[in-house]
Amino acid sequence: MEHNVKIAVVGSGYVGLVAAACFAEMGHDVICVDNDESKVRLLNSGGVPIFEDHLLALLQKHLNVRLRVTSDLKTAVERSDAIFIAVGTPQGSSGAADLSHVEAVVRQVARCVNGYKVLVEKSTVPVYTNQWIAKCMLLNRIPRDSFDVVSNPEFLREGTAVCDFLHPDRIVVGANNQRSENMLRRIYGPLISGDYYSSESSIPGPLSRCNPAKLLVTSAQSAELIKHASNAFLAMKISFINAVANLAESVNGDIEEIAAGMGLDSRIGAKFLRAGLGYGGSCFPKDLAAFTWVAEQQGIDLQILKNVRQINAKQQDVFFNKVRSALWTLRGKKVAAFGLSFKGGTDDIRESPAIDVVRRLLVEGCSVAAYDPAAMEKARSVLPGSNSLRYVNDPFMGAQDADAALILTDWPEFSRFDLNRLKRAMRFPTVIDGRNLYKPSQMLEHGFTYFSIGRPDVHPVPVPAGTALANRDLSQVPPAIRTQDPPSTGQQF
Ligand code: NAD
Repeated sequence: MEHNVKIAVVGSGYVGLVAAACFAEMGHDVICVDNDESKVRLLNSGGVPIFEDHLLALLQKHLNVRLRVTSDLKTAVERSDAIFIAVGTPQGSSGAADLSHVEAVVRQVARCVNGYKVLVEKSTVPVYTNQWIAKCMLLNRIPRDSFDVVSNPEFLREGTAVCDFLHPDRIVVGANNQRSENMLRRIYGPLISGDYYSSESSIPGPLSRCNPAKLLVTSAQSAELIKHASNAFLAMKISFINAVANLAESVNGDIEEIAAGMGLDSRIGAKFLRAGLGYGGSCFPKDLAAFTWVAEQQGIDLQILKNVRQINAKQQDVFFNKVRSALWTLRGKKVAAFGLSFKGGTDDIRESPAIDVVRRLLVEGCSVAAYDPAAMEKARSVLPGSNSLRYVNDPFMGAQDADAALILTDWPEFSRFDLNRLKRAMRFPTVIDGRNLYKPSQMLEHGFTYFSIGRPDVHPVPVPAGTALANRDLSQVPPAIRTQDPPSTGQQF
């Protein structure tokens, strides 16, 4: 069987560019198309528009060999057998996904069809989009036997996108007939057979020749729902642990201990049980809104998802209350903000909780020194230009004379700060950690006042009795007796 497939990937964003580079890495001939000419120019000149591990190396290896980047969709379609649609599906005003970019691509594709093509939905789309794509092709007079539509949702995570793509937990193919299923089997053949992992130059990851990628074939509708339901479930885990964190905090529990105890249960699993500032990014917020909308259209009230979104929105307030508890008044306070991207390992700032916190600090009159290893350039384009906001190239520069340092993104380097140096730089050694990167005991040892999520605050200097802070000051209390007296209702815990 011929393994090499001619592929067009439309959209060169986080998903499209990674998919295109990885398909080339798997041995296919790929044309990546974007209508953003500046992106195409940047890529063809050897640049990379996004920060993603391994991506530059793959582009350098395959560009102009097995991978071409262009804005010429017509030629890409004519030369390809499979066309992956990887354009954005942002949230529309009703909450529904805005599919106008997808439709625009399908219409353009329809104008250039010159033989049998498989159109593959790589973008995250609501259920039945496959049927709308088919309808659009038919309306544009493409005979039904000249194309198929397949749903192949993408589960990569930004920050580890290349590794996730080449070492996926599963590959879902929603195909409504054998012909199109076979095409997708050919495309993912090197990962399913394990051949890709035998190569010495393969990108390392959890899969191997003996433990290759698993392919799940479903109907197109099921595949579309798998993607939305998966993202909704992951978001639910995050909101669940944040809700429990707030409860834990009110009874002087420790959410990290609780999450560890829960996560060891193989039915639950430890991943996505990290309490913090809540989820953000370009996927969860819009996908939850779209999924809720889809359910409503079917007369199904997914109340659970509304709660997930409410808890997530409230988590910002929970964090900001901690900032107030730490600093009292905010006007004129100097704050170091560590992190701008929505999570560590990426420069993506879309729906980033960190960006929202910085905006709010500026509105409240703080002077902010912001540092992020990758996202500062993108942050500049969305945060207001202000004398109160400085971007610094070094976290310790940001901490200089600060009244408090805020950890807003879980970059690994933020969990390895030289704490003595950080303390020396700051005016007052106060850290408010929205990502629970440190242990309260460790921060106390280094002389920090430390606030985190779902855990007791610690204060090296006892807080005056009668203040809100005093109730939470456990620094003088040995861990074994860090529990509140049970309420006098006779209720047993
Ligand atoms: P993105 O905004 O980073 O990239 C989209 C790209 O499509 C842009 O470069 C844009 O210029 C291009 N584009 C738009 N219209 C076009 C057209 N008509 N012709 C050619 N190019 C066009 O988006 P993304 O983050 O890569 O996400 C793409 C899709 O994948 C979305 O549906 C998203 O929900 C889904 N997804 C994203 C992730 C992620 O982590 N970012 C993960 C899984 C799935």
